Amino acid sequence: MTDPIDAPVSRLVIDLDALTRNWQTLARMVRPAECAGVVKADAYGLGAVQVAQCLAHAGCRRFFVANPDGAAALRSVLDETARIYVLNGLIAEADDLAARNLVPVLNDLGQIARWADEARRLERRLGAVVHIDTGMSRLGLPPAEAQRLAAAPELLAPLDLHFVMSHLSCASEPEEAENHRQLELFRDAMRSFPGVRASLANSSGIFLGDAWHHDLVRPGYAVYGGNPTPSGTNPMEAVIRLKARIVQVREVPAGTRVGYGGTYTTERATRLATVPVGYADGYPRALGNLAHAFIGDHAVPVVGHVSMDLMTLDIGGLPEAKAHVGTWVDLIRGRAMLDDLAARAGTIGYELLTSLGARYARQWLGGTR
Ligand SMILES: *Cc1c(COP(=O)(O)O)cnc(C)c1O
Repeated sequence: MTDPIDAPVSRLVIDLDALTRNWQTLARMVRPAECAGVVKADAYGLGAVQVAQCLAHAGCRRFFVANPDGAAALRSVLDETARIYVLNGLIAEADDLAARNLVPVLNDLGQIARWADEARRLERRLGAVVHIDTGMSRLGLPPAEAQRLAAAPELLAPLDLHFVMSHLSCASEPEEAENHRQLELFRDAMRSFPGVRASLANSSGIFLGDAWHHDLVRPGYAVYGGNPTPSGTNPMEAVIRLKARIVQVREVPAGTRVGYGGTYTTERATRLATVPVGYADGYPRALGNLAHAFIGDHAVPVVGHVSMDLMTLDIGGLPEAKAHVGTWVDLIRGRAMLDDLAARAGTIGYELLTSLGARYARQWLGGTR
């Protein structure tokens, strides 16, 4: 029952079985299209190696990372036939990427030319994905370059074109006309690539409907338990649980100010609990006086400003035996809380999620390791 003195006082618990079920749910939804796994940013903070092993075991064959440096560890735990795509493009040396069996997502004509040169030099066809911009104005061939490529298909001749892809800008807002506009632009573009497989949808895009599924979907957030349908309840299972232990409890009278700036004053005599998690740990400062944590089934409010390494909870509503020094508090749990807290903090669950993983002792439950 008592943990050793150096046991972590806060912990990010990651349920790899729930994560695997989320991926399987998405894979079933899109069949016969194929389902990839987006594991950029160390799998949204949850551990790219652990996540990729689970997804591979569940049948996932294609993984997307942002940058080549994130791919080395992945390559070592996946078999040679699993594909690792680098979304940010041919931003490393071409020979290095080829030697490491990584497939770049080619984002402009210059990258296509360089990758084709590398294929000629190696005298073998190199895998590639071509990204066409249909509305993000971020990565991918702008429309004029896409037209030039369509008119000169020989530019791709030395390459094994796995997919042509694009990325949706408003998929989490199903009523947005932009989703239909991007779909039409993408379909138009695909006419120039007869017989080539297509990929458009991220997590939310999957929920827009079959028309957006094409041959390959690329979910990230929903696999990790985030809500891909923010206007409704979350269809995914919770994957993370963020917990921390109370490090101090004090009895205070009515009229006690709490935290920097004294933004909270107790209305009655109560008990306050201090928890060693703050904004330096990825818990947003904006949540002071706006969020709850849970002790068992009891919701306890976060009072006063969140500090750098600490926050304060008002536990006056709980019997003393339920909350004392050493008691575990759930700061994030269940399928709604990640998105709900993020919204209260004025951000999105993606940002909250990716700010946690590097800061906490991570504990992986289940899985196939
Ligand atoms: C991040 C990303 C995804 C995954 O998006 P989610 O919303 O997390 O499912 C898919 N495709 C591209 C190009 C991305 O950058």
